[in-house]
Amino acid sequence: MSAPPESSRLDQELAPELERWKAQGLGRDARLPGTIQGIDLGSNDYLGLARDPRVVAGARAALEEFGAGGRAARLLRGGSPLDERAEAAVAEWLGAEAALFFPSGFHANLGLIGALAGRGDALFSDRLDHASLIDAARLSRARVFVHAHLDLAELDLLLARARHARRRFVLTEGIFSMDGDAPPLAEIDELCRRHDAYLVVDEAHSAGVVGPAGAGAWAALGGRDGARLAARVVTGGKALGVAGAFVVGSRVLRELLVNRARSFLFTTAPPPAVAGGLLAAVAVCRGMDAERARLRALATELAKRLGLAPPAGAIVPFPAGSPERALELAQRLEARGLFVPAVRPPSVPEGGSRLRIVCHAFNRASELDELARVLEGAPRPPKKTEIPDAGTALFVVGTDTGVGKTVVSALLLRAARARGLAAYWKPVQTGMESDSATVLHLAEASQHECLPNAWSFPLPASPHEAAAHAGQTIEPKRIHEGLRGLLRTLLGTRVIVELAGGLLVPYKSEPELVTQADWLAEARAPLLLVARSGLGTLNHTLLTIEAMRARHLEPRALFLVGPPHESNRRTLARVAGVPRILELPLFEPLEPAALAGWLAANDIAELFTP
Ligand code: PMP
Repeated sequence: MSAPPESSRLDQELAPELERWKAQGLGRDARLPGTIQGIDLGSNDYLGLARDPRVVAGARAALEEFGAGGRAARLLRGGSPLDERAEAAVAEWLGAEAALFFPSGFHANLGLIGALAGRGDALFSDRLDHASLIDAARLSRARVFVHAHLDLAELDLLLARARHARRRFVLTEGIFSMDGDAPPLAEIDELCRRHDAYLVVDEAHSAGVVGPAGAGAWAALGGRDGARLAARVVTGGKALGVAGAFVVGSRVLRELLVNRARSFLFTTAPPPAVAGGLLAAVAVCRGMDAERARLRALATELAKRLGLAPPAGAIVPFPAGSPERALELAQRLEARGLFVPAVRPPSVPEGGSRLRIVCHAFNRASELDELARVLEGAPRPPKKTEIPDAGTALFVVGTDTGVGKTVVSALLLRAARARGLAAYWKPVQTGMESDSATVLHLAEASQHECLPNAWSFPLPASPHEAAAHAGQTIEPKRIHEGLRGLLRTLLGTRVIVELAGGLLVPYKSEPELVTQADWLAEARAPLLLVARSGLGTLNHTLLTIEAMRARHLEPRALFLVGPPHESNRRTLARVAGVPRILELPLFEPLEPAALAGWLAANDIAELFTP
C-alpha cells in the first residue's frame, strides 16, 4: 500500500530534522527490543520485584478477578476496588493521611503540580529535576525559577525574589535520577519554613531504596513535622517493580487532586493488575531492609572503586563526557554481557553524557567487579574543577527600538571591565551604523573586546526583513552555537549580548516564525530589560514582561531611560515584579565621562550574579 502524499511530504520535512539530531550523536535506535541482554546493571527494578513471584501472583489474581482493562476514568467507575486499597497501603507505608493512584509517575507530577499551582504562584526547580517535573511546571502557568543543582544559596535568593507570589512550591527529588545524589531535605524544608514555601518531593528513586522500611528520603529524616511538605510522589514502576504512581499527602490534597488533577480526571484507570501487583509489592518491599542495605553497599563500594562520589542510593553515574563516548563504553560493557545504558542529552545536560549504572539487590559482587575492571581503565573526561569557568552571558533586551539598549550595554561593559574580563556582542546588526563602535567608544574598550556580529545587514529593518533583503536567512540555531562556542573559549569573561529592536522582533518568519523571544527562551540566559521612561512605557513594558514570563523568562532588572518619570517608576515598581528598577538619564553630551559618572553613583555589580 502506498503512503498518502501528505504524509510523505511531512516525512520529507521530518527526516532531515531527525538526521541533524542524529549527527550530534543523540539519535536513539528505533528498534526497542524490550529485553535486557545479559546482567541488568541499568534498570530501575532496584529490588528485583518486577519478577518476584509474590508480586506476579498479586497482579495475576487481580487480572483474573477484575479483567484486563481499567475500562474508564476512575471518576466514571473505572479501575477496581484494589486501587483504593493500594492507595491506603502506600499512605500507611509513608506515614501520610492519604494517597491518590495515577497511571504513571509522569501523570502524577503533571496532575499534582497543575492542581497545586497556577498563575500568580512560583515554582522552584532544581536544574536536574526530572522532565516530568519540568513539564509540569511549564504547563502550570506559574512562574518557574530554576536554580543550579543543589545550590541552596541560589534557591534562598530566588525564594526571596518571589515573595509576592501567591504561593511558593519547591520541587525536588528524594534521589536525583541521573546523578544519584540526594538534596539536603531538612535544609530545604527549613528554607521553605523561612520563606513561607511548600515542598514537593519526587521519591521515584528513593522510595523502596532508603528510609525506614524503604519509605523514602523524607521518611529517612525521621519524624519531621511535615508542615511544609505539600506532597511526595512514589512511582510504582521502579523499586516496586510494577507501574503507576501515587501522590502522597493529606486528605484535602487527595480530594483536590480528584477534583482538579487533569492527568487523573481525563485518563483511563490503570489496569487492575497494576494495583494488584502494587499491593503485593508494597507489602514485600517493606520487609526488604536487608536487600536495601545490600544494594546500597554494592553501590557505595563500586563508586569508591571508580573514584566517584558516594551515591545516595542505587544509582552510580559514570561520566563519559561526549554522547559518542558514552555509547562506546556501553557497547564495550554489552560485549561482556553487562547491560548499562548510555544516557545522553536531553536526558542529561550537554557535556554530561554518562553511563547510568544501577546496583540492584540481586546483582552479584562478581558482576560489579567485572564492570569495575572494564571502567577502571577507561579515560575520564576532565573533572569540573579542572575546567576554568566558562564565560557568562547577560542579555540586553528592549521594549522597542531606540529605547537606549546600546547605552545600557556600554554601561554594563564598563562595569564588567572594571571587574575582570568582559566583551560585547551584538549577534545581529541591521543598518549601516554600528552599535558596536558606539559601545566600544562609550565603554572606552578596545576592539578585541568586541566580538564580531554573527549577521550584519545594511537595511535598517527588523532582522528577518533585513536578512531577506540581503538574500539571506538568520538561523537562530547558529546564534546559539556561536554563543556557546564563544562562552567556552572566553573563559571567565562576562559577555554583554545586545539584542536587536524589541523583544518580539522576528529572526525569521519562514517556514515558521522564530522571534528573538523564542531564541532567548531556549538560551535561558539572564536578561535585563530596557524601556523608555516616559509616556507609553507602562503598556510596552508590561506587555514585554508578560511575553517574557509566558516563556519563563525573568528580567533581572529594568532600566528606564530618559527624563525621570516618577509615577511611571512607582507604578512599574508596584506591578512589574522586577527585582530592581534603575533610572538612566539621557546623557548630554553622550560621552564616556558621563557614563563613568553615572556608574560612580550607581552600583550595578549585582546584575552580573544571579
Ligand atoms: N520522576 C522521576 C524522578 C523519574 O525518574 C521518573 C521516571 N524516570 C518519573 C518521575 C516518571 O515516572 P514513570 O516512569 O512512572 O512515568
